[in-house]
Amino acid sequence: MPAKPGFLRHRARSARSTFAILALSLLAACDHANTESRSDQRKIWEDFSGDKALAHVQAMVDLGPRPPGTEAIEKTRAYLIKQLESAGWKVERQSFSDHTPRGKMQFVNLLATFGAQGAPSFLACSHYDTKTFDNARFVGANDAGSSTGVLLELARVLAERPELASKVKLVFFDGEEAYENFTETDGLFGSRYFAKQLVAQDKAKLFRGGILFDMVGDRSLTITLPPDSPPDLTSGIFAAADALKLRKHFTYFDRDITDDHTPLNEIGIPVIDLIDFEYPPWHTPDDTIDKLSAESLRITGAVAAYYLAELAFK
Ligand SMILES: [Zn+2]
Repeated sequence: MPAKPGFLRHRARSARSTFAILALSLLAACDHANTESRSDQRKIWEDFSGDKALAHVQAMVDLGPRPPGTEAIEKTRAYLIKQLESAGWKVERQSFSDHTPRGKMQFVNLLATFGAQGAPSFLACSHYDTKTFDNARFVGANDAGSSTGVLLELARVLAERPELASKVKLVFFDGEEAYENFTETDGLFGSRYFAKQLVAQDKAKLFRGGILFDMVGDRSLTITLPPDSPPDLTSGIFAAADALKLRKHFTYFDRDITDDHTPLNEIGIPVIDLIDFEYPPWHTPDDTIDKLSAESLRITGAVAAYYLAELAFK
């Protein structure tokens, strides 16, 4: 009966290997849990790289002026999508057209989410278009290369904490700049459309708040919070800045600022505008990358990352 002992041996081996596999899986599960808890504690604000953010700004500036509807802004979108996807984000193009003082124009917002089961409840936003000038070459290093670079680098560090990243929706607005002046029908094309869609889909209430970045690269950085800054977000940003010993870079502005946070605040989503509006080259051909510093981008990005990781969802 040679078969039976062989069978038994096989059974015995089988039981041993089953045990071994089980033990290995348990070890793997523990290791996975360790990895998860380690990633939960990761100090992403320390990982935020001003140099990496500045390299994104350089890449966009190299594409030249990027007004809506141009080949350069389409190339900018391709760049943003590539960077976001390589950090693990899924990107949706929100395309629409609107009437402008220059006739009907096409715009595309980019919306990025992380993870399959993500139900984002917080917005992090920047516009990525540059203002249209007929007789000047305007590359918008600070407006809005800087904030777009910060948002891309924020996407990379958020991805180090997948659970946190899944709570944040990144929004890159097209058409922030007015062709003439900010009115109900000129400027904020992307954020007005995004807000309108949220209301139409009854999704505004899903978002507890948001941060908008705009002009955050000035070498001498002072974020000038507009008077309409939501109080909870303001104290949270101040607390984050305090914790990182960067509080001196944040103050209040004495006048209202119309920006992409305005349409979002109007639909009941409190959004704070992190903007340094004291920037002499604003809307001039001198808004070039030599006016920016990696350190200013890092200050803004680190404070936002700290706020998101430590305060926003507590
Ligand atoms: Zn501008």
